[in-house]
Amino acid sequence: MRVGIGYDSHRFDDGRPLILGGLEHPGEPGLAGHSDGDAICHAIIDAILGAGALGDIGTLFPDTDPANEGADSIDMLVEAMRVLRTAGYRVVNVDVTVIGERPRIAPISAAIVDRLAPILGLVQRDISIKGKTNEGMGWIGRAEGLAVLAVAGIDDEPG
Ligand code: MG
Repeated sequence: MRVGIGYDSHRFDDGRPLILGGLEHPGEPGLAGHSDGDAICHAIIDAILGAGALGDIGTLFPDTDPANEGADSIDMLVEAMRVLRTAGYRVVNVDVTVIGERPRIAPISAAIVDRLAPILGLVQRDISIKGKTNEGMGWIGRAEGLAVLAVAGIDDEPG
């Protein structure tokens, strides 16, 4: 059993749709970024790559590569899973905390779990998506953006 941690943060951009956890959430400010800005997917990618000591999202998808411009972060997660499986690992569980004043995570967490489970090779009970505000403090409290922490457990692929 190995454990990895991932962190990501993105600035809000009202001109973009909010893509978080592989789903679009209408009526919420989007996230700026080279890709679609999906900070949940990015933090999970770093957690699973970190668990395997397989580098990070920046080495797998350099933002200097025009191919990654506007990238669908679900595709990036699929590729990170391929790298993990090639190294002989499977994901055991993922736990995510989104830190931000918005969106509210509780109403959308189950849908995000359903979206990510098949990609991670997990069932619903092995994925946790939860939210915290920052109690109005600092850049997160001023709703300039949001941050995501993710922890992933991985294990040797059986067989
Ligand atoms: Mg990111």
